Amino acid sequence: MLSRQRSFHLFRFAGVDVYLHWWWFLAAIYEIQGGISRYSSIGWNIAEYLALFVIVLMHEYGHALMCRKVGGIANRIVLWPLGGVAYVDPPMRPAAILWSIVAGPAVNVALWPILSGLETLARASGWAYANPNAYLLLHNVWWINIALLVFNMLPVYPLDGGKILWSLLWFVMGRARSLMAATVLGFVGAIGLIALAVWSRSLWLGLIAAYMVFNCWGGWKHARALIQFAKLPRRDEFQCPRCKTSPPIGEFWKCNHCNQGFDTFAKQATCPSCGTKFAETYCLDCNQRSPFSEWTRDRSPLLSHSLDSHSPDSDFAERATTPAEIR
Ligand SMILES: [Zn+2]
Ligand SMILES: [Zn+2]
Ligand SMILES: [Zn+2]
Repeated sequence: MLSRQRSFHLFRFAGVDVYLHWWWFLAAIYEIQGGISRYSSIGWNIAEYLALFVIVLMHEYGHALMCRKVGGIANRIVLWPLGGVAYVDPPMRPAAILWSIVAGPAVNVALWPILSGLETLARASGWAYANPNAYLLLHNVWWINIALLVFNMLPVYPLDGGKILWSLLWFVMGRARSLMAATVLGFVGAIGLIALAVWSRSLWLGLIAAYMVFNCWGGWKHARALIQFAKLPRRDEFQCPRCKTSPPIGEFWKCNHCNQGFDTFAKQATCPSCGTKFAETYCLDCNQRSPFSEWTRDRSPLLSHSLDSHSPDSDFAERATTPAEIR
């Protein structure tokens, strides 16, 4: 639904590429025409719609920049009719995910006093009479910010509130079971939203509910795969230097030169088919790469000798059977 082909590049700021989905224009025309009566001219409707997306964009930048701060990858934001999506890939630790998610609504919280101050200032200087359109715009933008904050904080996966709940539950229940619990709650919330959409005859709410069901289903399947993955036998003599988890035994790594699947810990990080040696090894538990030599518990001289160096992105492909994305 959010393929890069259906969106075009708007700009790049702070290392993040911002794309606009073409559906956005359809929704913009619909929204702008729908609210025509509130302002004296359509220009103000356009301004309000743009202000909405500036706020959404700031919210998404909150996610993206914080994700980087905690050591994750975030280089793409797509704006589409239902809002924005920041493609964030934080390290798979509950605290890192929690910070990456909290940073989005935190932007709306920070905007609250700023917009309130501006509105007070405008009221004090008599804008309500002298400049009614500008005053109404400011007033509406204040409400848009609050509405976005409240909606995003609903504890319903995949909304921010639901993801915050997931990362909090992760501390007590572990990654897989917490994700399962959050997605089940997400389904309940989505059903409630579908009922609300039917009752209020809102296409917009219906689309959001469909989006939520789609994401919950993906999250639930991922949680199930994670539970299966956790049951795999582990190779106790190795340990990820970052998350301290032992790797599973099996051919879960893939050579990106010849596509051969192999167990990198059984083969000393060397592809059995083409002989490529890999300097870094991908952890299937925390989704991070570390030098192969750091994976051993007792550093034997055999394993700590220097291996051929590669560019960081040319090492192990991600495990094929588990979706690597958690958004
Ligand atoms: Zn958000
Ligand atoms: Zn790890
Ligand atoms: Zn190979």
